[in-house]
Amino acid sequence: MEKTDILIIGAGAAGLMAGCELAKTGRKVCILEARRLPGGRIHTISSALFQGIVELGAEFIHGDLPLTLALLKEAGITYHKMGGEFWRIKNGVFTHEEHFIDHWDDFMKELHKLEKDMTISDFLEAYFSGPQYTELRASVTQYAEGYDTADTKRASSFALREEWQEEDHAPQYRIDKGYGELISYLADMVKQHGGSIHLDSAVKEIKWGKNEVIGTTHDGGQFSAAKIIITVPLSILQPDDTEHDAISFSPALIEQQAAIQKMGIGAVIKILLQFSEPIWQDVSIQERTGNNMKKLGFFFSQEMVPTWWTQYPTESTLLTGWLGGSTAEAMKDKTDAEILDIALASLATILHLKPSFIKEKLLTSYIANWTAEPFIRGSYNYDTIESKAAREVLSSPVADTIYFAGEAIYKGTEMGTVEAALASGKAVASRILHGN
Ligand SMILES: Cc1cc2nc3c(=O)[nH]c(=O)nc-3n(C[C@H](O)[C@H](O)[C@H](O)COP(=O)(O)OP(=O)(O)OC[C@H]3O[C@@H](n4cnc5c(N)ncnc54)[C@H](O)[C@@H]3O)c2cc1C
Repeated sequence: MEKTDILIIGAGAAGLMAGCELAKTGRKVCILEARRLPGGRIHTISSALFQGIVELGAEFIHGDLPLTLALLKEAGITYHKMGGEFWRIKNGVFTHEEHFIDHWDDFMKELHKLEKDMTISDFLEAYFSGPQYTELRASVTQYAEGYDTADTKRASSFALREEWQEEDHAPQYRIDKGYGELISYLADMVKQHGGSIHLDSAVKEIKWGKNEVIGTTHDGGQFSAAKIIITVPLSILQPDDTEHDAISFSPALIEQQAAIQKMGIGAVIKILLQFSEPIWQDVSIQERTGNNMKKLGFFFSQEMVPTWWTQYPTESTLLTGWLGGSTAEAMKDKTDAEILDIALASLATILHLKPSFIKEKLLTSYIANWTAEPFIRGSYNYDTIESKAAREVLSSPVADTIYFAGEAIYKGTEMGTVEAALASGKAVASRILHGN
């Protein structure tokens, strides 16, 4: 049995960050990771089939986020500002995104008046059910399902109000060589400070008592420590999870498992399509829009795969499709080939291009179906009306021995991001070291 001071389950951004912080102070840290590579929901690939690097998971830095940017600086990792035009496309008609939601101001006014939280779908039903609001309802639902990957029948109106009340003009960035560089840096730091990272080591069972844990992996490996940090996605800890990647606790964590069920776990499918040419600059589109589309950033539609983006300002023929929320959840068991067909059909309808033309220009594709991905099984956390109380339960250590961390445990404004995961990892390390 390998003995260590602190056992960390999961080598995503949160686990590695916590590992780094603890190892730097001389604590003996051992990280157990189920997959064959670290990073979790950060997965940068570079393959000869794609031009340049491709992000299967996290891709953007959503603003001037202090921890992420400080780490990039420390590691000497370069990044660049994104930009580009945003378009909304309906029935082949392109309009600039800024003009897109009618009745939005009325909607926000009513949302501000709300005194008792309710789900966003109940809110729309209660205040904006009339036919004149059809478009508004569709747009709000699409935004919550697309950006937050939330189920609108569970998502909290208060949480969305907080998120939407400030128009966010903060710059967004991409890391030049991908988020994978940050993961490599953190993993190296853990090892340089004497920590160990075991890949392909799925933890199946955690036996615990005060200041005493034993984690057992799928192949019978045993690791003991005084404390354990659990950073796996919450979907893996669902008590009704019958999948082979579930973790059992002995004694069971009844209160924590009840809390996990109250949290929102989103769903997402990200579709990466490498074309032989930038099909969005096709002459037929230029004629229809009077725009050469060279600066196209994002485009939004109401097709099955509604949201797409280019790599602008980087010159690239990669197009990324994004499907979040309940539709992604409903499609999670489809094969990659089925999802690709649906994505190509959406793209053909949105851009008014022939499906045969799109297929002919497609060089390669990758379907990142995170909701079906073993050891992940979802996108990221969104707030339900019960999340606040549930998160309090999960952020409190169990007998000063079991600690939860990860993007879902983070309390702050950058929910569901890499920043959230890093901040949570840092906070849990500080709690173990200093009790706060
Ligand atoms: C498609 C997609 C796009 C995203 N885009 C962005 C973006 O543009 N910008 C942004 O900031 N954020 C984005 N995010 C969110 C961001 O990726 C996550 O918030 C963050 O990476 C989560 O880190 P984490 O450490 O909390 O969890 P994870 O990265 O999920 O790490 C948890 C680890 O636990 C491991 N694990 C699970 N079960 C076990 C087990 N039994 N034993 C051992 N290990 C186990 C998993 O394999 C995983 O490596 C995106 C997420 C997805 C899915």
